[in-house]
Amino acid sequence: MASEEPSPIENMRTQMDRAQEYAGVDQNVFERMKHPERTLEVSVPILLDDGEERVFRGYRCQFDGGRGPYKGGVRYHPSVTMEEVTALAGWMSWKNALVDLPYGGAKGGIAVETKELSRDETKRLTRRYTEGIRRMIGPQTDIPAPDMNTNPQTMAWMMDTYSVYEGHTVPQVVTGKPVEIGGTPGRVEATGRGVGIVTEQLFEHLDNSIDGATVAIQGFGNVGAWAARLLAQAGAKVVAVSDITTGLYDPDGLDVIGLAEYAGEGGALADYGGPQAEAIGNEALLTLDVDVVIPAAVANVITTEIAEDLQANVVVEAANGPTTTAADDVLIERDVPVVPDILANTGGVIVSYLEWVQNTQEYAWTLEEVNAELERRLVGTFDEVIGAYTDREIPDLRTAAFSIAIDRCARAHSYRGLFP
Ligand code: NAD
Repeated sequence: MASEEPSPIENMRTQMDRAQEYAGVDQNVFERMKHPERTLEVSVPILLDDGEERVFRGYRCQFDGGRGPYKGGVRYHPSVTMEEVTALAGWMSWKNALVDLPYGGAKGGIAVETKELSRDETKRLTRRYTEGIRRMIGPQTDIPAPDMNTNPQTMAWMMDTYSVYEGHTVPQVVTGKPVEIGGTPGRVEATGRGVGIVTEQLFEHLDNSIDGATVAIQGFGNVGAWAARLLAQAGAKVVAVSDITTGLYDPDGLDVIGLAEYAGEGGALADYGGPQAEAIGNEALLTLDVDVVIPAAVANVITTEIAEDLQANVVVEAANGPTTTAADDVLIERDVPVVPDILANTGGVIVSYLEWVQNTQEYAWTLEEVNAELERRLVGTFDEVIGAYTDREIPDLRTAAFSIAIDRCARAHSYRGLFP
């Protein structure tokens, strides 16, 4: 994390304050919305394969429940802290409100380097963590989903553990499950698909065509790789991608499908043996002379220095919180549009919602139905954000998106009133 950067929670509150200038919600309600409702910290002791025991720290934060059951992912990463989880839970609250899902916001995580654990150890970790938070989650109270280093298998273990305690199968307690046990078609690629859709919408809004547009993507995991595939399919030229090991750059365009298949099997880009491409650092990737830069890895990578050197015409935030607030100011000053995370990466939670609806109704949709509904909701939200940005003369898309989201949340709180 760059030293200039305030903590993620301070960052989020600054974004809320900026939006409040335009939303003008009741000050008492606004103050309430700045504080997480509850956060649980759990000890997660597990037996390692070698017979030793090791204890990890796990968290689940429910930030704002004004609009419905809490919803948000579970992240496994060494950098996970209670503070980070809390800020991410706040962002989930505003994201869910922005796309008008009947959900509040939550987030969970374990501070762990998953690469150091075997599959069995990861399973035990997931089961023990689920036991730790199971009194807090539930299909009507709080519904986890995958995030960094968690996947459909992780969700299957969480669902099974919760179901064992309930005495019957409860598929709708988590989303992002394998299709065989109640997952929805289209969920795995949903976030990347959403990133592709909003990028295309932005180009249309700017009277440009995505066809032939050059794209650089930082982070080539689930979101980055799917965004790359779908943008390439739409005619864009993906010239650079990276993972934690290295970046690869080819101004003539990379073999996105080959790279995605390779990375999907766990291959590190530094060891990629496919067509030759120039190795490039993760920071250098962000300042390439391309049309679009898509950060799709970790937070706070676009610092003021990067923002000053950025050559792209637009930034689309696939990752959560990739731009620091100070860097946001530089990009506003330089007139570089940034599609904010709470709009750009909502594809995942939209399709998670569709999975939960299907589970609740015990009825399965087709991939075409899921994708059409995703696109309808995302395009509608994009238009709404552009509408607020233009009509209310808001300086940037993030503030426009936040103003819609906090207004929607505040209305729910105002109708429901303050207990007691
Ligand atoms: P992932 O674990 O599948 O992939 C992460 C990628 O980022 C990997 O390629 C990894 O090597 C790379 N990476 C990790 N640390 C890095 C660093 N310091 N510098 C450069 N690259 C680094 O994760 P994901 O699910 O693709 O999530 C990526 C981002 O998108 C996260 O910020 C996550 O919160 C956000 N997000 C994910 C979803 C989802 O549905 N998966 C939904 C919304 C937002």
